[in-house]
Amino acid sequence: MPRMAGAKTAGTGCREVAKMRKTSDQTTGRLKAAAPWVAALSLGIVIGVGAQQKNLGYSDTPFLPGGKWHVHDGNRPQPKMIDPGSASTQEMPGKAPSDATVLFDGKNLDGWKASNGGGAAPWKVENGEMVIAPRTGQIESKEHFGDCQLHIEFSTPTGATGEGQARSNSGVFMLGKYEIQVMDSYNNPTYPDGQAAAVYGQYPPLVNASRKPGQWQMYDILWKSPRFGADGKVSEPATVTILHNGVVVQNAARVLGPVQHRALASYSAPHPPTGPIALQDHGNPVRFRNIWVRELKDYD
Ligand code: MG
Repeated sequence: MPRMAGAKTAGTGCREVAKMRKTSDQTTGRLKAAAPWVAALSLGIVIGVGAQQKNLGYSDTPFLPGGKWHVHDGNRPQPKMIDPGSASTQEMPGKAPSDATVLFDGKNLDGWKASNGGGAAPWKVENGEMVIAPRTGQIESKEHFGDCQLHIEFSTPTGATGEGQARSNSGVFMLGKYEIQVMDSYNNPTYPDGQAAAVYGQYPPLVNASRKPGQWQMYDILWKSPRFGADGKVSEPATVTILHNGVVVQNAARVLGPVQHRALASYSAPHPPTGPIALQDHGNPVRFRNIWVRELKDYD
């Protein structure tokens, strides 16, 4: 059972409170006995603090790197308020945050197209779920995204008979190029950098947080696209953090390049910082639901 931060027994808590009261009384006593200028100074501090609070922060503090904002700068723009939505259960998909772009909410595939040819997405919608129609081909979002938070839920079929890479294989391709593996890895060994939640061919997940086939699983993918210099060479590799069913399985992994099979990935050619989110058809009827994405921008 997880330990609750700050939890204490009632007895210890009472002792703590009594100790604090005693300390407070001692402090008050010392103040009463102090010279009048101490009281005046205290009043000045209180007034000063009050004025600072009215202005929200400080302007006499050091500048943060970049030289635009002070430490605790009250004039710094307030972060926009959003409705964070709600979490999914096995029975019901959650609600996307209010500033998310919803790519699939159980109704239709309007936000998607076939990667090959650009026609209508050939997969099915059943019971509010997107289902791969095997061997109809990969699909991708019509909209392109760069740095983002992607939430996607999947369920691999029960009774699948393939083994290793042949069991309920699909994939999420960031920018249409970088594969995060989707697979039934509940009881299905394969090469570790090819199992569920791996950056395919590069990084195994830190732990295997897979659920059984038939259950809903979640990926929360925090993606930062690679940057390329004027010389066409990569100046900042892509990084990716992934939570699989709420557990961190990739922690700012430095991506080596677009996905490769049986070859070492590398940034052999520059590409735009945005691209589609693509889903792989590997011939298995994996199901998806509750897909949304939030673009991530710089501070302020
Ligand atoms: Mg795959």
